[in-house]
Amino acid sequence: MSEPRCTGVWIFGDYRNYFQNRVTLQLIAKGRDLARKRKTELTALVLGDHIHQYAMEYVAHGADVVMVVDHADLRNYQVETYTKVVARLVTRYRPEIFLAGATSFGREFFPRLAKRLRTGLSADCVALEIDPETGLMIQTTPSFGGELLAEVVTPHHRPQMATVHPGIFEERPHNASAVGRVVYPEMDIEPDDRVQIIRTKAEQKGKVKLEDAEVVVVGGRGLGSKEQFQRLFDLAELLGGEVGATRPVILAGWAEEERLLGQTGKSVKPKLLITVGTSGALQYTTGIQGSETIIAINRDPNAPVFRMADLGLVGDARTILGQWVEKLRKRL
Ligand SMILES: Cc1cc2nc3c(=O)[nH]c(=O)nc-3n(C[C@H](O)[C@H](O)[C@H](O)COP(=O)(O)OP(=O)(O)OC[C@H]3O[C@@H](n4cnc5c(N)ncnc54)[C@H](O)[C@@H]3O)c2cc1C
Repeated sequence: MSEPRCTGVWIFGDYRNYFQNRVTLQLIAKGRDLARKRKTELTALVLGDHIHQYAMEYVAHGADVVMVVDHADLRNYQVETYTKVVARLVTRYRPEIFLAGATSFGREFFPRLAKRLRTGLSADCVALEIDPETGLMIQTTPSFGGELLAEVVTPHHRPQMATVHPGIFEERPHNASAVGRVVYPEMDIEPDDRVQIIRTKAEQKGKVKLEDAEVVVVGGRGLGSKEQFQRLFDLAELLGGEVGATRPVILAGWAEEERLLGQTGKSVKPKLLITVGTSGALQYTTGIQGSETIIAINRDPNAPVFRMADLGLVGDARTILGQWVEKLRKRL
């Protein structure tokens, strides 16, 4: 007898820090689009304890179905227990596509789940599409040190799994009159995590509001020192903007981690982004591709960053920055 066909697009509902962490809602919006193209339904799966309010939120944001596993032993995100429960649900209901946010939990949980389900997984995707000819999900992800965008497909195994970076897709507006089904599958929960959570403490909230800024000034390794990087704050202040950074800057300790942009950091969509002393590696540009206008400053005229810039200034960043700040101060 042949295996039953896999249908349905599933999203893993990560509702922790709900008002700041919007990736699940962004995935629901994208998942709907994929589900429509596959002529199937979009299901958001949520595990936890007393979580009905999130089910209603996911319906309001576009889920056709919300599958809720509500149990006291699922109160905390415990990776081993969650993997076991979700693997059983996937084996039972056989979705064709399963997506999660590339959050710290998604990055830990989804590889385990994919291994258990013996299927493939593309991590940190920046685009997802359905191939109109084959019906397969094309999973676009930066690869080979960020030099290339690889298009990955999972032709033979199900579900087709991917994690997606927060901020890539737009969430749908909240619609309180949206209609969806909430289902409670029967499950025996046997918690057997080797890690025991003794207590949890909320991380201090960041003060840096990069995602909402209309102007973002980003510094890269080319600035050469922490002192030079600090000068970006003068420019950002004059333009009413925020300061972001590339990974080498964070690693050098010139800026805090919450300023990191890119594949492993934040994604921004400002009206104006000024990128100074950055080469334009794909893992970085992934986080700035939604910017309306990009001005790049680099002393190397062949730097890849100029390929995506609307305006490029070739020269020493320190000189250009100094002159720019001086001129703006005189005008304001
Ligand atoms: C799995 C993975 C994930 C990653 N995630 C991220 C991420 O989220 N974000 C991120 O940023 N990176 C990430 N990276 C690193 C990324 O690949 C690049 O190494 C990084 O973005 C480069 O940073 P940069 O442009 O500041 O430095 P560089 O690539 O070293 O570029 C410095 C640039 O400054 C120019 N320059 C030098 N001196 C001057 C001067 N005086 N004036 C003007 N220009 C000058 C140079 O010409 C050069 O183009 C990741 C890498 C991997 C492998």
